Amino acid sequence: MKISFKILIVLLVALSMSFKYKRQSVVIINKANPNVIIILTDDQGYGDVGFNGCTDIPTPNIDRIAKNGVVFRNAYVSYSVCAPSRAGLITGRYQDRFGYSRNPLYRPFDPEIGLSLNEQMLPDLLQQSGYNTMAIGKWHLGVHEQFRPWKRGFNEFFGFLGGGHRYFPEEYIIANQDSAKNEEQSYRTKLIRNQTAVEESEYITDAFSREAVSYIERNKDQPFFLYLAYNAPHGPLQATPKYLERFTQIKDAKRRTYAAMVSAVDDGVGLILDKLQQSGLAENTIVIFLSDNGGPENVNASDNGPLRGGKGSLFEGGIRVPFAIQWPQQIKANTEYDQSIISLDIFATVAANVQGIAKPKNALDGVDLLPFLNGTKKGSPHEFLFWRQFDQKNYAVIHQSGLKELILKDTNINLYNLKTDIGEVVNVAEKNIQLLQRMEQERKKWEANTIPPAFYGLNQEEDYIKEQKLKKEN
Ligand code: CA
Repeated sequence: MKISFKILIVLLVALSMSFKYKRQSVVIINKANPNVIIILTDDQGYGDVGFNGCTDIPTPNIDRIAKNGVVFRNAYVSYSVCAPSRAGLITGRYQDRFGYSRNPLYRPFDPEIGLSLNEQMLPDLLQQSGYNTMAIGKWHLGVHEQFRPWKRGFNEFFGFLGGGHRYFPEEYIIANQDSAKNEEQSYRTKLIRNQTAVEESEYITDAFSREAVSYIERNKDQPFFLYLAYNAPHGPLQATPKYLERFTQIKDAKRRTYAAMVSAVDDGVGLILDKLQQSGLAENTIVIFLSDNGGPENVNASDNGPLRGGKGSLFEGGIRVPFAIQWPQQIKANTEYDQSIISLDIFATVAANVQGIAKPKNALDGVDLLPFLNGTKKGSPHEFLFWRQFDQKNYAVIHQSGLKELILKDTNINLYNLKTDIGEVVNVAEKNIQLLQRMEQERKKWEANTIPPAFYGLNQEEDYIKEQKLKKEN
């Protein structure tokens, strides 16, 4: 009896020590840390926001972000189609470094198709620092169980896992994410709340806005990170009468529906900004708005303004996007910023401005933009920016001077001066041989630290099916 009593005491002491140890290892939430909201649209053109001069689609709420903070005129994403661009944004690293450089096939049971588990996503880092985190909308970063949002640092998820979705709930006829066999079918899956398929009744854009507002309400007393990835205005072009009725003056039916879809997003942005205001959170919340790539003008009737090319291209229309940030506590209202920046900077900027945050797992390619915005750092955040389209053998390099090298099919080299020739018409390569040589050197150095695509993409579906057959036969 005595012995067991002693054992009990020893156990209790050990237990209390382990509690103490655990308590020390838990990250203490710094309540002064900013909330972070990334609002990402899909295939929205550079010219399709008020702050970039759009006249036929009013975007008063998206424009509020620009007015409250900073507009970036030369802001880029790291790829000109959805999935690689998102991979760059969420890791803060060029996606070519880890082979996420194609739009993936939708194959829920293939553990090779997804964003490398060696990479760290921003929500993972923030979660370790005591943030609550949520992703809403389009995922597109891996469909296999191991790649899903709840495995990558998100406390909550509401949305779908593939590269797009239909907009009307009556069309969500596939029971869950695992019963869809390809990308096309995934557009008709039921939406997922956390890990479970749910019944939805609202137009998808309204549903995502509703969830965003509810999330802010539920987390107003602690730092949070919300990644709100609307699939609008990516195809299929679908809108409700509520939004269509606003654009009866637009004659082209495609553009009318596109406008309605953008308008629905804008309403959602308004609800979110209002919610922040009402909750007293607006001052210390970083709200970032951007599109994941340029508009595919012929597909969804988007408009890239004066830029050449569109989605899928390395001309400016493919990679330069509408981009604005508000953070009233740190960034002056009505700021304009003209140096080149890239979506990769989001990770670095957030990480640099959260007190007590752990060191990111991998070396970041982006930089903290805040010192450049408030003037403590001069010059350009990036001497060079790089793009690669592995399958097409296309490259682009932008130098801080505004000169842009564009290599098509590995051989055709062009140099454009974006400051005087935003439409990329006049090849000035012969006048800038020295800089061009330097750009080539830097590009090769950059490429030495990249890898080929890690999986077959949507464009290689036939090859993929053949290979799977061979695997089965052997
Ligand atoms: Ca896209």
